[in-house]
Amino acid sequence: MITNNTNTNTGILIRFDDIAPNMNWEMMDKCQDLLNHYNLKPVMGVIPNNQDNELLKYPKRENFWTIVDNWRSNDWSIAMHGYNHLYDGDTNKKDFFNHGGKSEFFGHSYENQLLKIKKGLDIFKKRNIKIEIFFAPNHTYDENTFRALKDSGILKIIDGYGIMPYTMDNIKFVPQLFYKLFMLPFGIQSTQIHINYWNEKNFLDFKKFIEKNYSKVIDANTAFSKNSNSNFNKFINYSLKTALKLKRILFKS
Ligand SMILES: [Zn+2]
Repeated sequence: MITNNTNTNTGILIRFDDIAPNMNWEMMDKCQDLLNHYNLKPVMGVIPNNQDNELLKYPKRENFWTIVDNWRSNDWSIAMHGYNHLYDGDTNKKDFFNHGGKSEFFGHSYENQLLKIKKGLDIFKKRNIKIEIFFAPNHTYDENTFRALKDSGILKIIDGYGIMPYTMDNIKFVPQLFYKLFMLPFGIQSTQIHINYWNEKNFLDFKKFIEKNYSKVIDANTAFSKNSNSNFNKFINYSLKTALKLKRILFKS
């Protein structure tokens, strides 16, 4: 049974994090050429109002929103990656996915989180960009984040554990497990790519990964359409949760 599902249920979504006017554009241009060569459609996690000093150090492109428009017209997906990417305080692993570390959203009131999300969406709206997908800076959420997202009409998140997309409380999730590029033999996954920290070797590794796995790369619509809450997938996702949390810790170090 698994064998029959393997082709349609194996895929990887290319997710870029920290997309903003200030970033490592030299690397972005190279990735863009590579992805276009294979006609692959990634999801771009755009920070609508980037105020993160670490990220502001990178060179700025003044025509950022024209570039985003060009990606859109090339069928790349645009997701919202937080609002301003400013962290305040550690979650002490009390965030929804027990990820730990700093957060832009975790621990804030529902009203505060809703306001952040609305302000972010307004920036996209001004540019006629409809946002359906969200992923929080540093993977950190609490119940109020999900409530605020739903109340803002965002029902798709790329984060969390599992080997297949699933629905929880009316939100669809595509799991994001590994820090490094990694292709599982079965399941639908998302990468997380931080080109700002890349050197030439990282790009060459990515290039090799794409050359080897391009036929398994899927776009965001396809990834979310693989959503399954079958008992089989529930069982697999549940069984692997603890193991994958451990794997995430191992891959991080
Ligand atoms: Zn980020």
